[in-house]
Amino acid sequence: MPTSTSDDAFAEVKSKVDLVKVVQEHVRLTKRNKDFWGLCPFHQEDSPSFKVNPQMQSWYCFGCERSGDVFTFVELIEKTDKRGALQLLAERAGVELRKLSPEQKERSDSRKRLLAMLKLAAQFYEYVLWSTPAGEPGRRLLATRQVNEENSRRFQLGYAPAGRGFAEYLRAKKRSLADAQDGGLLRRDGTDFFAERLVIPIRDERGQPLAFTARTVRADEQRKYINSPETPAYVKGRVIFGLDLARDEIARRGHAVLMEGQFDVITAHGAGIQNAVASSGTALTDDQVRLLKRFTDELLLVFDADRAGRQAAQKAVLLAASHQMRTRVATVAGAKDPDEFLRAAGADAGKQWEELVAKAPSGVEFGMEEAAAGLNLSNANHVELAARKLREWIAQFPVALQEDYRERAKRWMGVSGHLLAAEPDEKRGPGRPGAYKVGKNGLETSPAGKKMTVGRYLLQLLAVRPVAFDLVRTKITPDELDEEDRGIYERMLETYERAGVSGLEKELAGYPAEEQDLIRRAWAAPPPSVDDEVAVELAGRITLDHMRGRHSGIIRELSEAERGKDSERVARLEAEARELGHAIDEMERRG
Ligand SMILES: [Zn+2]
Repeated sequence: MPTSTSDDAFAEVKSKVDLVKVVQEHVRLTKRNKDFWGLCPFHQEDSPSFKVNPQMQSWYCFGCERSGDVFTFVELIEKTDKRGALQLLAERAGVELRKLSPEQKERSDSRKRLLAMLKLAAQFYEYVLWSTPAGEPGRRLLATRQVNEENSRRFQLGYAPAGRGFAEYLRAKKRSLADAQDGGLLRRDGTDFFAERLVIPIRDERGQPLAFTARTVRADEQRKYINSPETPAYVKGRVIFGLDLARDEIARRGHAVLMEGQFDVITAHGAGIQNAVASSGTALTDDQVRLLKRFTDELLLVFDADRAGRQAAQKAVLLAASHQMRTRVATVAGAKDPDEFLRAAGADAGKQWEELVAKAPSGVEFGMEEAAAGLNLSNANHVELAARKLREWIAQFPVALQEDYRERAKRWMGVSGHLLAAEPDEKRGPGRPGAYKVGKNGLETSPAGKKMTVGRYLLQLLAVRPVAFDLVRTKITPDELDEEDRGIYERMLETYERAGVSGLEKELAGYPAEEQDLIRRAWAAPPPSVDDEVAVELAGRITLDHMRGRHSGIIRELSEAERGKDSERVARLEAEARELGHAIDEMERRG
């Protein structure tokens, strides 16, 4: 039974926290009229159906139909109970809770002590590294890795000396050794877990240390790196290394550079690439992608150059795509990892990096190159094999992207279309996730019945990147679009021509509700590739579709004219059909 005291506590906490701010730490929200919308964190979705009402301080998901207030939100997202949610929010609001259950209180206190202990440890190690003779081996290691003091202080690197240094320090400060043991800092015998290692704090996106990775300074040590164990404060696979330092630059540049190792990231920041982060000690996880998606929709993957690194990059491309994130993949030629690449470049690192980034293909293209690597595409058998591999690669992407990717693969390989045609029976049975059928217009209809036509794709792209109108308007006229897309296209074009790139945002409220929905959905979950090249490609396909439609119309008219024995009309239509047929062939050949 809740006591009146705890009811008061709920009310007090609720009055002091803002649901929108709490939700925003987990979900990217877009304001629409008075409400905020985002992708529901409790079920998988492509378009936002999760709504937060700031006046009512309540939320509702139209997809999974979950709903509630700030407490239920925290309960679900932190996987805790009502009491736990109250506690987390009370901490945040600075409200003292008098009536916690003993276990709750114990859990909260021990987590707080653990975090304080980790902070203290990071400070101690950093002090040892820079301000004591014992830190010398750490300083030497950093010098060989060309990490200067300024950069290493940014990451709060430290050094754990041999022996019981940290335990003695804690004793002197009258702090509990048990807490340090729980945090994985001390062994049972009181010796330092990270002794004789350079210590790298793994911090959350707000800069709180949660764990450490430590690299040995001894040549004879077998285990180069060791890591903190998982604790109530640290769950491996939920943290992104460097995110606290990179988040502003990620927002500024619009993308995050995702690397594998901590030293890759440290060196990258030293070279001015301050939007670099790392998955840190694990293959990229769903939780990490979700965390990154709070900050950006685009990842530039720069993994190790070896086979394992390239495979990890392909997995990351697919994982990101499943969360509607775009990817590109840069390859560090002639170096084993980004750290080595940037150090070898020295003062030239910035320039060489820009060149590398400029060359980076999209994630799907990177996978295509990998699939065809080592095959000779002028050999018919190899072409078949490459086509099969490409098909398998593309089949792993979300269904809505596959048709477009197959088109790109065709062009990329120069193979005839049938080799890449979808084979729905190949790997999946009917009804299984990802099963689909090809609609009669050649575009896929997903099981949910949602259709992504070329026209829709183009509209979404233009919503996200209005400047692409400059190219698109020279390629197509509105009447080439399907009727259902024409109105919104004309409205967006008119807005762009009159009010420029920011016009859409300013004038959207005046659009019909359906069109607003489409545009906001595109903003919340942009299509996978948004650039001029794709825009031109889509425009080309629209023109081609339109020409094909006109062609069949003429053929229909022609048979009518023949039935009516109207020879003059027949001749005119025949000429028109022939001319159009040639133009279509020509476009397809170029396409
Ligand atoms: Zn939902």
